[in-house]
Amino acid sequence: MRLLAFLIVILAPALAFPRLGLHEGYTRLVFDLEAKTQYQLSQTPDTLTLRFSGVAPNASDTDVSSPQVASYQVVPAAGGATVFVRLRPSVEVKTTVLNDGNRRRLVVDVVSVTQPAQNPPQASTRPEPPKPRSQPKTVVIDAGHGGIDPGAVGFVVEKEVTLDLALRLQKLLRQQGVEVVLTRSSDTHLSSDKATDLGMRAEMANSKRNLFVSIHINSAPNVAQGIETYYFGHTIDPSLLAQVIRENGGGELGRRLTLEAQSVGERLVRDLIAQSNLKFSRQLAHLVHGAMLQATGALDRGVRQAPFYVIRNARIPAILVEVGFANHPEEGRRLQKSEYRQALAEALALGILRFLNNGG
Ligand SMILES: [Zn+2]
Repeated sequence: MRLLAFLIVILAPALAFPRLGLHEGYTRLVFDLEAKTQYQLSQTPDTLTLRFSGVAPNASDTDVSSPQVASYQVVPAAGGATVFVRLRPSVEVKTTVLNDGNRRRLVVDVVSVTQPAQNPPQASTRPEPPKPRSQPKTVVIDAGHGGIDPGAVGFVVEKEVTLDLALRLQKLLRQQGVEVVLTRSSDTHLSSDKATDLGMRAEMANSKRNLFVSIHINSAPNVAQGIETYYFGHTIDPSLLAQVIRENGGGELGRRLTLEAQSVGERLVRDLIAQSNLKFSRQLAHLVHGAMLQATGALDRGVRQAPFYVIRNARIPAILVEVGFANHPEEGRRLQKSEYRQALAEALALGILRFLNNGG
């Protein structure tokens, strides 16, 4: 199948999606569309997100390294694709649509915004200090759920707390020179189809990043509290399955995705690269888990393995944290508090930095 796909690419080279142009002062991305193609744009300070329906590009992750754009990523989904453009600071996005019969071109220009200089630049005879050679580390933070999917609801709503924690964590890591990719930076789902949604999040755990952390809030039919940290693995523990099914989309869908992830778990046992990655995931899990317990004094529910769909195929260290129970009368209320969330975010950052500094 892979060979066939390869041959098709050779025999019928499609136009790149997007076509990229580097110009003085701006980076241009051109999307060739059909008249029926729908798209939506949204933008945060560091990411421009374009969602297309009715296109079928290949997945890609491309470093641009222009002064305006760091990279872009194309993530195919059912019936379309999402393109994430990672923006540099001090840029403005301008879009133009050009109609040409039944073809359309969406032109996205990412333009440098020059700050007015305080002082005229001075001629200097001193050479610039050498830039540090080490590559910045990049981590992917997944704020669980979002948009139409609230996740667990109790004294707090899971999707709100996970987003808040992800944004706090992003800020803390950036202060330490770590690059952060968020799977979402507002109250939104990535797809209204949960399997596609989880697949798109998982796709972001690609080999150009250093690690992946998915943040969740727990809930239980009985009163329970505490913090759990997971890395991927097969489980036969029936007490875990209800929770895993819920995080995997719930209901019939959750059961199906859990079975799928379980079968990935069985295959991984024979996959050496995956096994060595799991070792790093376990290490990351212990560092993050320990830091969270120390910072919060929360009940220790352990580091465990379970078939969470969102981390099933990660080729970088990947964990899923359940930072507390939404419906516990004390823990749920603690999770409402800004100081408690900040303590959690700082602990997550600390665990992640410890792992990165160990060469992870
Ligand atoms: Zn969740």
